[in-house]
Amino acid sequence: MRIARSVQALIPYTPGEQPKNKSAVKLNTNENPYPPSPSIVRTLATFDLDRLRRYPDPVFAELRETIAALYGTVPERVFVGNGSDEVLTLAARAFVDDDEALGSFDPSYSLYQTLAAIRNVPFVPSPLADDFSWAEPVVRGADGKPVALFLLTYPNAPTSVAYPQQKVADFAQTFPGVVIVDEAYADFADATCDALATAPDNTNVIVMRTLSKSYSLAGLRLGFCIGPEDLIEALYKVKDSYNVDALAQAVALVALKDQDYMRDNVAKVRKTREGTTLVLRSRGWDVPASQSNFLFAKPAHRAAAEIFEELRKRSIFVRYFPGPRTGDRLRITIGTDADMQQLLKTLLELDVEPAT
Ligand code: PMP
Repeated sequence: MRIARSVQALIPYTPGEQPKNKSAVKLNTNENPYPPSPSIVRTLATFDLDRLRRYPDPVFAELRETIAALYGTVPERVFVGNGSDEVLTLAARAFVDDDEALGSFDPSYSLYQTLAAIRNVPFVPSPLADDFSWAEPVVRGADGKPVALFLLTYPNAPTSVAYPQQKVADFAQTFPGVVIVDEAYADFADATCDALATAPDNTNVIVMRTLSKSYSLAGLRLGFCIGPEDLIEALYKVKDSYNVDALAQAVALVALKDQDYMRDNVAKVRKTREGTTLVLRSRGWDVPASQSNFLFAKPAHRAAAEIFEELRKRSIFVRYFPGPRTGDRLRITIGTDADMQQLLKTLLELDVEPAT
């Protein structure tokens, strides 16, 4: 066989569907419904083509300085990736030995399990409490292998809820491995964990962000992380030479400097989120209080899988994750107010008591 055994057995990550139909209501991949900062238009229009002829800055110095200034830290503690997914891939390469394991909460971002499989190390799931609140992480696999890297989504996905910050801090303090706090959705939350990453006595916590959600730049592919210098250096050691292209570096710089625009969009999404939550709850749905740009909602009457299919037929795309912990819910990205009105109107027709 030409394909490695671990790859033959690999179950790949399945991204959300990208429908061709432009008029579809797309609430399935946690994208931002609003456009990115308008200042990007000028950056693109005036972009010097000579920068494309040459290789990009391999260590994205300007971008690191901007990110460091934004978070009150030094560039040596900052790393940038081709989307935060790349940062996760590099972390699995840099922080896990062949005889160790990778862990995360369950349910959480399903890519984590795939990363362990690609790396050919065991994945150790830590079951969350029934209401998706914090439960003490499992730090050793059934085979005795220690979890060397714990990927902790904050707020969590697909559950949408955050944990008390102190829980994260206490866990990190006793955990002997590396903790990556994946803050993909943190701009939509009331509180974040990023102070952990910049704390001078922190030796094992990396906090990761993405421009895909709050900055409306999922198509750009730009993620970054902040952590102790030695861990950040390890990520540089294992990355491709030019992992962030010149255009992405230039656009990200402008987007990050336009904090007011990002904050305005986040405020709009949060407002729509609260309104949608109230309507669904008033119709008997179980909707945990979301700290992200999506809801993880359990229908009142019909099975989530059926509603998912019926919505899809009507060109309304939400996300459905089969499985014992997730299969009775839908993950619904917060869209514009018009998107949500269309969704809520359709759900009124679909989520009805089955005829007896
Ligand atoms: N972390 C979490 C929890 C996510 O949901 C996503 C988006 N699917 C990512 C990371 C990756 O984001 P990106 O690669 O677009 O930065």
